[in-house]
Amino acid sequence: MIYSTVIQIIPMSEHDLIVRRIRDGTVIDHLKAGKGIQVLNALGINGSDGNVITLALNVPSAKISKKDIIKVENKYLKDDDTNKLALISPKATVNIIKDFKLVEKRLVSLPNKVERIFRCSNPDCISNSNEDIESIMDVVDKTGLVLRCKYCTRILNVSELKYY
Ligand SMILES: [Zn+2]
Repeated sequence: MIYSTVIQIIPMSEHDLIVRRIRDGTVIDHLKAGKGIQVLNALGINGSDGNVITLALNVPSAKISKKDIIKVENKYLKDDDTNKLALISPKATVNIIKDFKLVEKRLVSLPNKVERIFRCSNPDCISNSNEDIESIMDVVDKTGLVLRCKYCTRILNVSELKYY
């Protein structure tokens, strides 16, 4: 079977196309404008599985003036992914669509603890060593998105961290 990958990048205006309904999958809506590409990277969505992915940037929105939207067909976002979203764009909503119907609408919420998502920026941290230890970080400031590494206690700013 040959899989084809379609990634559409829509700069705005074509609203009819943007809101095209999908049969099954996930619509990530109300993403902060400019965060769409970062979210795709963080969630590891790259089209390699052959599913249609639509990324719309800077869509006019009544709620937050401009937003990004991601639609991933035939894939349902898991809670783990939702947590990542909360760190990048806390006001995002996740809509799960089955057979053209909205079956679940989730507001993303910031967890108290972040596991495995980011690498600690301290090169000497045990989570960056050859040991099989993945990062654990406490969220110390939900508004400012500040984390603290559980292992080396370094204070970390989400915007400066690298994803696994
Ligand atoms: Zn650390």
